[in-house]
Amino acid sequence: MRTVDTLIVGASLAGAAAAKRNVDAGLETVILERKELPRHKICSGILSPRGHRFLIENFGPLPREALHEPTSCRGVTFHFPCLIPLSMDFFGGPTPHLHRRYSDHWAIKRSGAEVHDRTSFVGLEDHGDHVIVHARQSGNPVTYKARQVIGADGPSSLVIRSIYPDYPKQIPWFFVGQKFHDIVDCPLDPQYFHFWFHPQLGHYTWSHARDGRQIVGVGFKRGDNFEARHRQVKQYLEDKHQVRLARHEDEEGCAENFGPSLVNRYVFGKGNVLITGQATGFLNMIGEGMSCALHSGAIAGEAVVEARLRGRPVQEMYRRMIASEVRRTTDQWNPLKIAFGKPHEADFPQALMKLSWRERGLVLRDMWNFLLLYKEFKWGRQIAALAGQRLFSAGYSAQRWL
Ligand SMILES: Cc1cc2nc3c(=O)[nH]c(=O)nc-3n(C[C@H](O)[C@H](O)[C@H](O)COP(=O)(O)OP(=O)(O)OC[C@H]3O[C@@H](n4cnc5c(N)ncnc54)[C@H](O)[C@@H]3O)c2cc1C
Repeated sequence: MRTVDTLIVGASLAGAAAAKRNVDAGLETVILERKELPRHKICSGILSPRGHRFLIENFGPLPREALHEPTSCRGVTFHFPCLIPLSMDFFGGPTPHLHRRYSDHWAIKRSGAEVHDRTSFVGLEDHGDHVIVHARQSGNPVTYKARQVIGADGPSSLVIRSIYPDYPKQIPWFFVGQKFHDIVDCPLDPQYFHFWFHPQLGHYTWSHARDGRQIVGVGFKRGDNFEARHRQVKQYLEDKHQVRLARHEDEEGCAENFGPSLVNRYVFGKGNVLITGQATGFLNMIGEGMSCALHSGAIAGEAVVEARLRGRPVQEMYRRMIASEVRRTTDQWNPLKIAFGKPHEADFPQALMKLSWRERGLVLRDMWNFLLLYKEFKWGRQIAALAGQRLFSAGYSAQRWL
């Protein structure tokens, strides 16, 4: 059995950030990754300015191999059934278009932690002063003993299931899938990430250029038909945007836990087990999850260090320290913050004000109709209540967290 100070599950961005803080503090840190590194990660790779700053400040300038073509992204273009496009540039200029296979591996190496790839987390027992972790390395059972465990294992987190077995049943699950097409003709600006607020197309519809091909992605409640959804969007792009694409060569998809950050229902762990990154529920507007994965990962890592220095329970430290990231993420979904603050990293209110009164009315009507698609999840009332409470407090209630 290997004994370490901190064991991190998941060699992704949250795992790299958590590892960096622990290694910097002199803690023996091992990261478990179920896949062989460098590993593929389904992602558009559009990094927010804040995520970009984090990478530079913590890991240094990105190597060229960590970028797709086009190598940067200027911002986001929203599309609506009224066909009025709304383009927004990121504050501070374009950001890198990450190739997750290489950017994540680069960050993991720069963290300085020891990595055990092809090693899957299977389960754990928290004994109060240490945690026993069971894993399988290339199929063989291995055991670790750690003072603290950080689960940075993404949306379908097994670490969460090992401490809260019923959690996956408590939230709605979505499927997102994308297909990669050769381009016949594509008038969509390759410098922008394109997103459709269109209720007939699905809960999450996007397209962008990558390495000479065009990605068409669809997201919907789990159980629907990917083929049919994708065919419909491809046809819509052809009819309304004159996008002509050849047959797709590759496709991929995964389950997503979209929702907890809208309604402040995060999972931060139990006892000596911390949860971080997207596993907690952190996701920014338009599904941007890398910046909050990096920041929450760093906070989880710092909480472990602080708890040791101060002799305090690690959960108590983490929950106090993570409040700032909760505030930042959940503010992005708060209608009052959207209307009167600047919670996003591209200027939506300014883009809207550039339109005529009539166009603004059409865009807001289409946005409202799109939001009605989410009515069945009963998030509207919770978001409104949270926005009201936020008027009188500096953050969001920790009582709603697991
Ligand atoms: C289609 C799509 C497009 C996206 N586009 C963007 C975008 O453009 N910009 C953006 O910011 N975000 C985007 N996201 C979201 C972003 O990819 C995630 O929010 C982010 O990667 C979360 O990082 P993480 O470190 O929390 O976990 P993940 O990146 O999910 O990594 C978890 C890691 O844990 C490993 N793991 C899982 N289970 C185990 C186990 N049992 N044992 C060991 N290892 C395990 C996985 O292999 C993986 O390496 C997109 C997501 C999808 C699905």
